[in-house]
Amino acid sequence: MNAESPLIAAAQRSLLPVYRQRKMILERGLGSRVWDQDGRDYVDFTAGIAVSALGHADPDILEALTHQAGKLWHTSNVYYSEPPIRLAQELLGASGFAERVFFCNSGAEANEAAIKLVRKHAADRGRPPERRVILTFEGAFHGRTLATVTATAQPKYQQGFEPLPAGFRHAAFNDTGALDHVLRDDVAGVLVEPIQGEGGVVSADAAFLHELRRRCNALGALLVFDEIQCGMGRTGRLWAHQWPQVIPDVMTLAKGLGCGFPIGAMLVGTSAAQAMQFGSHGTTFGGNPLGAAVARVALRKLSSPDLLANVQRQSAALRSGLEKLGAESGAIKLVRGSGLMLGAVLAPAFETRVDEILDAAAREGLLLLQAGAGVLRFVPALNIGEDDIAEGLARLGRAIRQLV
Ligand code: PLP
Repeated sequence: MNAESPLIAAAQRSLLPVYRQRKMILERGLGSRVWDQDGRDYVDFTAGIAVSALGHADPDILEALTHQAGKLWHTSNVYYSEPPIRLAQELLGASGFAERVFFCNSGAEANEAAIKLVRKHAADRGRPPERRVILTFEGAFHGRTLATVTATAQPKYQQGFEPLPAGFRHAAFNDTGALDHVLRDDVAGVLVEPIQGEGGVVSADAAFLHELRRRCNALGALLVFDEIQCGMGRTGRLWAHQWPQVIPDVMTLAKGLGCGFPIGAMLVGTSAAQAMQFGSHGTTFGGNPLGAAVARVALRKLSSPDLLANVQRQSAALRSGLEKLGAESGAIKLVRGSGLMLGAVLAPAFETRVDEILDAAAREGLLLLQAGAGVLRFVPALNIGEDDIAEGLARLGRAIRQLV
């Protein structure tokens, strides 16, 4: 690690200190391994926070990027170019429900677009502003813009940024019994992650999602699934909502869609496809040819049955390795989540020691994330092989044994 590096000192002087960055400077990556400036290698169980779904330096992604880079990078949405049109068609086809797509640059922007669409859809139906409430859930994470941070029902992300936009209501996640009270006829849309990521890797119960669908239908409200972290193959199916078989009206994507190239998307089903018209919304960079060319390859590769089967196989290996490690060390209470989006809930004695575990893991050559309080998050590349899973587990085992 490069703790004394002048470059890190420069970063600490010059970057707005909104992140607590680990004191290492990563230089290159290949597959599920990355190397720092000192040549040390790390097994990557983070994939850049569930982004680099095909690992680092995937040859097909590289080829798409360099080929398109030699032709045309950016046109703005004043003109058409081929890659975003093709990507739109391919995404709509793969979604199984959507009729229209809006491209943007990040997850927060995709959710921001969805929030605006819910409001516009309600306004078009004659609902006054006080009946355009958006319901979201405790533990959620939807982004850092002012509207998405308001949708994110966690005070720690909101404090100091008041006044927050009006018209959001928060409810307990997975509490079907509470819905009578919170899902009233002033609700215009429900925004929910099929698996909460930042909130600690917590899956929505299938029955909860079915009940949200049923109530949204009854109220004429839109059901929006935020699949920014759990979509694009991460659970072993292309979309997380394919497991409970609940179809949303709107779905937001980012992260794995560009496999590291910043691109987001909002997909809209028939019920709301007409809500946004000329002038309603827009962004300069959204769906630019370079990002779209990369995302087309990402979508093709992440949809492949072999890749999705690998997610399930490596998920089983990772889960059982973590359970074994938990039983041996006493550090892990339970493993939850789905596919290659797993959370290891730490035993009470280790709950407050997440930073120590992450530091020890880095010393042992493993990149790892936290999710929520007392949970280690595992979101490696979806094409990770069994050797890297085994090596990552071995390094985690050494890290944890240093602390027991
Ligand atoms: N929604 C979910 C479920 C996320 O996990 C994230 C980011 O972690 C976001 C939205 C925000 O995405 P971005 O950081 O690209 O704005």
